[in-house]
Amino acid sequence: MSATPAIRYHIQPAHPGAHLFRVRCEVAVPAAEGQLFRLPAWIPGSYMIRDFARHVVVARAAAGGRAVALTKLDKDTWQCAPCAGPLSFEWEVHAWDLSVRGAHLDTTHAYFNGSSVFPAVVGQEHLPCAVTIALPDGEGWKHWRVATSLPRAGALPWSAGDYAAADYEELIDHPVEMGEFLLGEFEACGVPHAVAITGRVRVDLERLCRDLKTVCEHHIRFFGEPAPMARYLFLVTAVGEGYGGLEHRASTSLLCGRDDLPRSGEPGDGYRTFLGLCSHEYFHAWNVKRIRPAAFVPCDLGREAYTRLLWVFEGFTSYYDDLALVRSGLIDEAGYLKMLGETATRVWRGPGRLRQSLAESSFDAWNKFYKPDANTPNAVVSYYTKGALVALALDLALRRASAGARSLDDVMRALWARYGRSADGVPEDGIEPLVAELASQDFGAFFARHVHGVEDAPLAELLPDVGLRFNLRPAESGSDNGGRPGTRSEPRADLGLRTQVADGELRVSHVLDGGPAQAAGIAAGDVLVALEGLRVQPRGFDRQLDALRPGECVHLHVFRRDELLVFALTLAAAPADTVFISVDGDAADAVVQRRRTWLSGG
Ligand code: ZN
Repeated sequence: MSATPAIRYHIQPAHPGAHLFRVRCEVAVPAAEGQLFRLPAWIPGSYMIRDFARHVVVARAAAGGRAVALTKLDKDTWQCAPCAGPLSFEWEVHAWDLSVRGAHLDTTHAYFNGSSVFPAVVGQEHLPCAVTIALPDGEGWKHWRVATSLPRAGALPWSAGDYAAADYEELIDHPVEMGEFLLGEFEACGVPHAVAITGRVRVDLERLCRDLKTVCEHHIRFFGEPAPMARYLFLVTAVGEGYGGLEHRASTSLLCGRDDLPRSGEPGDGYRTFLGLCSHEYFHAWNVKRIRPAAFVPCDLGREAYTRLLWVFEGFTSYYDDLALVRSGLIDEAGYLKMLGETATRVWRGPGRLRQSLAESSFDAWNKFYKPDANTPNAVVSYYTKGALVALALDLALRRASAGARSLDDVMRALWARYGRSADGVPEDGIEPLVAELASQDFGAFFARHVHGVEDAPLAELLPDVGLRFNLRPAESGSDNGGRPGTRSEPRADLGLRTQVADGELRVSHVLDGGPAQAAGIAAGDVLVALEGLRVQPRGFDRQLDALRPGECVHLHVFRRDELLVFALTLAAAPADTVFISVDGDAADAVVQRRRTWLSGG
């Protein structure tokens, strides 16, 4: 860091009750033709144009004690009139988005991503910057602490004060939390780690830190020490219900349900899911933050950045997030196979997997995966879930092709060695030749079928290599998420639609291709009123359906807007779209040993 950075930022939650941050940016040498300031349109890791600049309330500029004229050039760019430096540009930002992507401020806490609040000094984004984070004015806020992975440049640990960033890209890659969070600290492979939790929670912090340390050390050793970050921070916001995460180079922002955090006693499925989320975002510190798609180098945050590789960056990460939990002993084999079956069930239940390839899903993420609508299950495949299954299939296929000498682990480590420490990203066609090189054979057909084509991941064919069986059965109820064998001898009656309860009504959210509801003309948004002349029970509809048999013709009354419609439809048998993975008890010792090797990461 130079002694006097040419760019200085200052941010303060100025009016917590009005949700307003005040942000100032001082530029020592403004551009001669008039300095431009610009806010990103999207935040890395979340592939949707969000137009953060719409939350800017008032912008002004001054130099030498006089106001400088400002002109807005487009939705997120401001131009100052030519002036001599230093130039001070100031604005207020409304922060009322409680997500991992934006900024949120009230009288209980402040949270922001730099991409929501800090304007880029156009043309000087490569310069180091100083950042001062200030508490709100007044005695009432003096006890607030600050949690961020931004390098400190004078600020005391967990305190307001002076921080620094090497350039604009780094500045906006360290989210900041201010308030009265809980704080746990631990070391992983000698690197200081911390978890800061905001929200009203009761949590076994010791247990959480112990388990996070296990996950983090697993990932660090997977890629090889030393860890690529000097410190790491899990920023957790616990709410009544919520789920989400966003990866950064030395931290992650997470949103979770408060019941998902561990308390005394044995934690449940929610905690396993939370640990999976932590594992996912931590793995991203390598896979996407440092091993980057070439399409993101450099990253233009003003418009969409297109890549066909999100199935690698999100799909492989989704494969390794849960795999790391079983490899590090945090869950057992049965628990892992259950999670795998649940993931596969989510994929097999979407007819869209037969319409859109993983490469297409990656490319169109901006307008499809991130903008779900009534037709999403029929038209879109998730590069997370199907990407994870294709990663598993690729892993097993590599092990088969190399007689156990190679695996997807080698692909990840090769990506890390080749691209992780270089400025270059992974080219769009970079994965297939790397796999072929490691396997010493052509994998073109695999990629053509499962990545560029729409064929399902070949798990039924490959899982027996490790003594497992891939099983499909019909769903047994609306809340059957798969992952376990069924108990019914006959399939239940099925309408071919998805519903959600809203305002005490049962509303159709999606109509699935080829099902009875679509054939009859039922549409997304319809409110189900009566089935066979009996009022629909929003939370008891499963039981009403259970009384009927596949093949029966039934009448369904619905409201479409305010019009009552009646449809006759023939109930189908629930399709075999629910996956569970079972252990082959008769597998040979060598096969069982292969499974042990895979699940131990050996
Ligand atoms: Zn991710």
